[in-house]
Amino acid sequence: MSSVNTAIQLITREQAGNAVNAATRRAAAGTAGTCSPALAKGPWEYDLAEALAGAPAYGPGASNADRAPAATPRQGQLPEEYKLASDAELDVRIRAAKEKLGDRAVVLGHFYQRDEVIQYADFVGDSFQLANAALTRPDAEAIIFCGVHFMAETADILSTPDQAVILPNLAAGCSMADMADTDSVEECWEQLEEIFGTEKDDAGRVPVIPVTYMNSSAALKAFCGRNGGIVCTSSNAKLVLEWAFERGQRVLFFPDQHLGRNTAKAMGVPLEQMPMWNPRKELGGNDERALLDSRVILWHGFCSVHKRFNVGQIDKARAEFPGVNVIVHPECPMEVVDAADSAGSTDFIKKAIAAASEPTTFAIGTEINMVNRLAAEYPQHTIFCLDPVICPCSTMYRIHPGYLAWVLEELVEGRIVNRITVDDAVQDNAKIALERMLAARPL
Ligand code: SF4
Repeated sequence: MSSVNTAIQLITREQAGNAVNAATRRAAAGTAGTCSPALAKGPWEYDLAEALAGAPAYGPGASNADRAPAATPRQGQLPEEYKLASDAELDVRIRAAKEKLGDRAVVLGHFYQRDEVIQYADFVGDSFQLANAALTRPDAEAIIFCGVHFMAETADILSTPDQAVILPNLAAGCSMADMADTDSVEECWEQLEEIFGTEKDDAGRVPVIPVTYMNSSAALKAFCGRNGGIVCTSSNAKLVLEWAFERGQRVLFFPDQHLGRNTAKAMGVPLEQMPMWNPRKELGGNDERALLDSRVILWHGFCSVHKRFNVGQIDKARAEFPGVNVIVHPECPMEVVDAADSAGSTDFIKKAIAAASEPTTFAIGTEINMVNRLAAEYPQHTIFCLDPVICPCSTMYRIHPGYLAWVLEELVEGRIVNRITVDDAVQDNAKIALERMLAARPL
């Protein structure tokens, strides 16, 4: 099976003048290189570099516009033995630790996780599927989440108090989730309440409903729970917006502007009624009139991985592969979604490929680990990533087998490291917003 790591190593060899396996290169979408040479290193090297620099960062590949908040969790140094261990040694140690732990531990792997880690996962899925998968293992004392911080928080909210949720590398955050911090959202909310007031209209709708994407901190999910709001995923964003429009005159959508805009636009909301709220600007960069006329107020957040996709890549794919089926994730910019044949969640993309009965060429606009895995799973199709540069989710990439071996062996010794705990008050309110999402039904 091809993987980002394999592709990176192959590219490195190619640069050294060695031959490269053509099939793997095609699976790597004809890549000319990676978004950062640092990807070929162990993540502990950039964990150390950022510790020395005194500021948290997101690792190679994150866009320059991303700024990790000072409060971003930091990973302490991984014990030397795990950094020095070969892939083969780590493989033996991880398998042995899993064997010893048996049903006491469950390993979850996100679709965007690298194959070197996914091979040890008991469940693979998107963040919400994985949190639910953990519910099927109530006897597991430890849930090892090979994803990013907000996913581990959601698993902690949905798991039992006796279960410990572990994130193998604490620096595996999500740059998009960090773009909406609680203070900025609370401040925005206060300003909106001053403008809109709190009175319901004649149809019984409140002035504004907060909607947070699953890719947000537990604190923001709790904010939505406290303020009549709701959580959405990329699969159910339309259903959730319908729920919100039934109860509110407008929506404050965070943190991903693209998912909010793409979903609302498909529902017929005009772009002029979707102002952007930039927390660094006065009134989010808007005047009162624009906010009063709004239907959806979009937070100024985005995913570093999905914002790399552009219309030029789609044009190129169509020119090179006439008849290509272009499917992109709704975290991509609007122009990309508009130019694609279809757009949908990771689950939608998987199902669309699984449903193709004839050999088809698919150009996919989502994270490369998932695309390469689909290419390996469906060899009858030609499947490649629209982005010709290998650029995995830089934060998810921080989960290396070395970290997984470390947390598992610590568990074998009876020690829990890197536990993610959401405090009770936040859990209670976040659960309200999650339960509203689960209860939301088509009108
Ligand atoms: S792919 Fe984007 S939204 Fe998903 S975890 Fe990575 S940075 Fe966050």
